[in-house]
Amino acid sequence: LLSLRGVRKSYGANVVIDSFDLEVDEGECVVLIGASGSGKSTLLRCVNLLEVVDDGVIELAGTDITDPRANADKVRSKIGFVFQSYNLFPHLTVLDNITLAPIRVHGVARDVARTRGLEMLDRVGLLEKASAKPDELSGGQQQRAAIARAMVNSPQLLLLDEVTSALDPELVGEVLDLLRELKDEGMTMLVCTHEMGFARDVADRVCFLHQGRPLEVGPPAQVLDDPREPRTREFLSRIR
Ligand code: ATP
Ligand code: MG
Repeated sequence: LLSLRGVRKSYGANVVIDSFDLEVDEGECVVLIGASGSGKSTLLRCVNLLEVVDDGVIELAGTDITDPRANADKVRSKIGFVFQSYNLFPHLTVLDNITLAPIRVHGVARDVARTRGLEMLDRVGLLEKASAKPDELSGGQQQRAAIARAMVNSPQLLLLDEVTSALDPELVGEVLDLLRELKDEGMTMLVCTHEMGFARDVADRVCFLHQGRPLEVGPPAQVLDDPREPRTREFLSRIR
């Protein structure tokens, strides 16, 4: 479904993503791990066209989305993206946060967007919070609302960047459980996380980034428990 070939991204002289090849199959969950600064967030931002790649090709469902002629809004409507900080608009209700982009950017009729938004809130267990403002929600609830917002366009691909790292430990589980359910329902996901438990349980494959390259890619049991690369082993020993 998603194919990266020879992707390169630099900021000035700093090459952050280099010679990056990765395939993500439909329904697959690939978890990106690696040290701070290894390029995980930058890679997700390249896939979501928040960054322009310097070289290489990114294909989504067979379409080259790095082609300068690609319509960025159309591409982004097929990709859900959730950040570490939920970025909900504080002055809007939870439901309005979710329906804003479909109505304003994608031209969905208001009542259709509301129906779909309420379905998504129900899906993430927040139907009763539809009219609440974000600051009336717990961190875990806000992050689930952000996931509902990312899912409202029925995206082909979900990108998740450290979605639990701003949460209190007791709230992490509810968000990871939701992601696990979405994966079980067939959602294709590319996820940056420091949650090795999640990587072990949910990932089909784990990709270890080192200095912007995919140094080791394989099933979690191999990459996390029996790494071949000394640098992967060193990284894992530091975080345990
Ligand atoms: P973390 O685990 O801390 O989130 P990361 O793997 O997500 O790290 P990135 O945020 O992708 O790392 O950053 C990779 C490198 O790119 C870093 O050296 C960072 O300083 C640099 N970088 C990221 N964004 C920019 C930017 N907008 N301008 C210049 N340099 C940037
Ligand atoms: Mg990051």
